[in-house]
Amino acid sequence: MISHKEPRQIEQLIKKQEKLANHCSYAIGGTAEYFASPHCVTELVELLRYCKQQRLEYTLFGIGSNVLFSDRPSTNMMYISLKELLQFDVKDGEWFVSAGMPMSMLALAGELIQSQSFQFTHLLPGSFGAGIYMNAKYYHGQIGDVISRVYYLDAAEPDLEIKCIPVEECKYGYKQSVFQEKPWIILGADIPVEGHRLLSETEIESILEKYMLMKDNKSNLMQFYAFFSGEMKRLTQPDTPAFIQEIEQYRTKNKHFVHHSCGSYFKNNYDIGQSIGALVDHLQLKGTTYGGAMISSHHGNMLINVKDATAEHILQLQTIVSEAIYKEYGFIPEPEVAIIK
Ligand SMILES: Cc1cc2nc3c(=O)[nH]c(=O)nc-3n(C[C@H](O)[C@H](O)[C@H](O)COP(=O)(O)OP(=O)(O)OC[C@H]3O[C@@H](n4cnc5c(N)ncnc54)[C@H](O)[C@@H]3O)c2cc1C
Repeated sequence: MISHKEPRQIEQLIKKQEKLANHCSYAIGGTAEYFASPHCVTELVELLRYCKQQRLEYTLFGIGSNVLFSDRPSTNMMYISLKELLQFDVKDGEWFVSAGMPMSMLALAGELIQSQSFQFTHLLPGSFGAGIYMNAKYYHGQIGDVISRVYYLDAAEPDLEIKCIPVEECKYGYKQSVFQEKPWIILGADIPVEGHRLLSETEIESILEKYMLMKDNKSNLMQFYAFFSGEMKRLTQPDTPAFIQEIEQYRTKNKHFVHHSCGSYFKNNYDIGQSIGALVDHLQLKGTTYGGAMISSHHGNMLINVKDATAEHILQLQTIVSEAIYKEYGFIPEPEVAIIK
């Protein structure tokens, strides 16, 4: 059992006047009136009850690598990040991993048990909970393929009891899941690891302790890269697996961790037969700027914050791309990023 924490009082939990720009990879977002990052499920449940009593709305996110916060956040909103919900339980043949755990931690744990199944999560920004929600993927690997059951709270039910759903019922598809249709808050999932050696709790705990020292920098892409690339090298050099090396090369070549971004801005439309990045390339839009934002010159589906961009600047670029794609290809691309008011 790792990182089981005593619940704090609600007054200690809620931060007032918190800059949302510090909690997302875009480094964009105004000041939130109410912000909280619960350490355990008890704290999360208390927060949800508090919001109900105080008639506050709430919005929930993880590490913030796929969100665009408003420049003027709603004053009646509690912004809840689950990035401190960090638990990694090792059982024989199975792990339980909590929602706030960075997905890239799975790649490190996989190397420790000599399994290739989690290599695709190496340098995949974001939390495991959001990965379960979005069915995060890289190349042939996707989160829906490595879990067996998901634990969640149904926010629509007053008792807020922990429930469980088997992966077969999660309706996984390309960037799709049942969680996008329901008011469910993902707490974590079981991961089968039968046939592999038992993960050393001491080793994964020591990595997790170092990760926790990143404190408020967990959403910063440069820090994320430095930590996980460094840990992977430490665990695997000089025999770093070929796929891990390919991921490092691809992501560094495309400058994924140089600028603030949310990764791919739009979902691909596979009916068209080409990625959004390729369409933007054909339309010669790469490098287009608006205020402090730019369509990456390395990847047409990345709208990046080059210098002090606001949400408004990013949304203007979204419109430029959407209108150009509609004019040429007859469809409006669907944003993958969650646009939060
Ligand atoms: C440089 C870069 C590269 C990327 N590359 C990839 C890639 O290769 N493949 C890929 O799939 N994605 C990629 N992404 C996107 C991102 O990594 C994933 O979408 C990831 O799942 C986001 O995790 P997060 O914790 O940051 O989510 P957040 O941005 O914090 O949240 C996104 C949304 O998920 C939902 N959510 C989050 N946590 C929960 C929860 N516990 N329960 C219910 N709903 C929840 C919320 O609705 C929230 O609005 C990339 C992003 C960046 C910045």
